[in-house]
Amino acid sequence: MFPVLELTDDVRRVTLPLPTPPGHVHAYLLRADDGWTLVDAGLGLPDLEAELRALVAGLDAPVVRIVITHMHPDHVGGAAPAAAATGAEVWQGALDHEQCERVWGDPDWPRRVADWFAAHGTPEAVTRDLLERGPLYASFIRFARDVHPLREGDAVAGWRVVELPGHADGHIGLLRGGRLVAGDHLLPGISPAVGVYPESRPDPLGAYLGSLRRTIELGPSLAYPGHGDPIADPAARARELLEHHAGRRDATGRALADGAATGYEVSLALFPDTVEPGARRFAVAEALSHLERLAALGRAARRGHGRVVSYTPC
Ligand SMILES: [Zn+2]
Repeated sequence: MFPVLELTDDVRRVTLPLPTPPGHVHAYLLRADDGWTLVDAGLGLPDLEAELRALVAGLDAPVVRIVITHMHPDHVGGAAPAAAATGAEVWQGALDHEQCERVWGDPDWPRRVADWFAAHGTPEAVTRDLLERGPLYASFIRFARDVHPLREGDAVAGWRVVELPGHADGHIGLLRGGRLVAGDHLLPGISPAVGVYPESRPDPLGAYLGSLRRTIELGPSLAYPGHGDPIADPAARARELLEHHAGRRDATGRALADGAATGYEVSLALFPDTVEPGARRFAVAEALSHLERLAALGRAARRGHGRVVSYTPC
């Protein structure tokens, strides 16, 4: 049985297991007059539906809708099993759902993404398991095909939808009475990953920095993150993350100081201690987000040399 923690009268936190670090992901149950709203659905592991049926049976009211904050497998992967377990319909950011279809709905995605990493200088040893384990990964991503699209300003169960692009292009949060259900937009202790991928917008880091500044303006007093404990001062956390990325931007500039470098080479400079292939791929995607930010600022240029893309300072 998944652990459930009562945070307030109208918010409960459900902790779901993940087979990879950080080992867990939080979903949230929000109470409204018509029943519970489940925010995020975890990874679509084989026993998820049965576990959620047991969870729902123990609630004092039905789950009447499911909201997905963003398209990453540990948040959207369980959406279809959650819908089956609860009988509820799924609500998801409009752009986020489109990207879900284009990425997880494409059977050729592992090949496309492996080729794309190769074009950014990534060795085959780092991309091999994308192809070898692609079907297994895909079996855990059971997103909902039919969803109600959500956009900035929509109301859901008395909470307001806020678009917070960056960690994912179509990432949304829910805001009510100074509390923000934040998905992975803000996390305690770790910097939410921001990466460029084949189907992503060109400058996700620029979007993320804008969403951090927006968080400071919105000034929530509490954030409920997808991983880790509630964040007591979300604006302060947003400022820390802005500072963190300013440091990374400077380090990316230094990594280009000797001339042209690929996204993979810059990732080695920014994340020298990363060893595991999956973590290295995140590092490459994040290095590319910094390189594209520098390109948007006119401080770097992207060049194609044959089949390999590199960046030069300017
Ligand atoms: Zn995420």
